[in-house]
Amino acid sequence: MCTFCKIVSGELPCYEVYKNKEVTAFLDINPIAPGHTLVVPNKHVEKLDHLENSSVRGALMQALIDVSNQLINAGLCEDYTILSDNGLHADQDEPHLHFHIIPRLIDEEIKIYTPTNQEAAKETELLNVLDVLQRSK
Ligand SMILES: [Zn+2]
Repeated sequence: MCTFCKIVSGELPCYEVYKNKEVTAFLDINPIAPGHTLVVPNKHVEKLDHLENSSVRGALMQALIDVSNQLINAGLCEDYTILSDNGLHADQDEPHLHFHIIPRLIDEEIKIYTPTNQEAAKETELLNVLDVLQRSK
């Protein structure tokens, strides 16, 4: 059983901030900022694209909104970033789907640097990707 499944089942402790029958949210024990929270589906699924249950899909989005509101209403932040790494090449560190909600504060030292791929930004490449996507429907 993976670490997050153990947390969801109660086998491992966590700083739980939100729980219903489909989703659990708890504080990240290696927080980037105070209030940094992880949101996970209770049932083990590795990646977002593996999530077939539409009820769980909806519950996850609801939890992301509810927990963000919790952080805001508690005065921990007004702004936040939501991240989810999916798969080996995305540096997913735990093989159980999870979303980070990271409070963002004025004068913080967090730098999330995502440079534009200049080749991919060319119009011919954008049109090529669009064509590939449309043909794969
Ligand atoms: Zn798991």
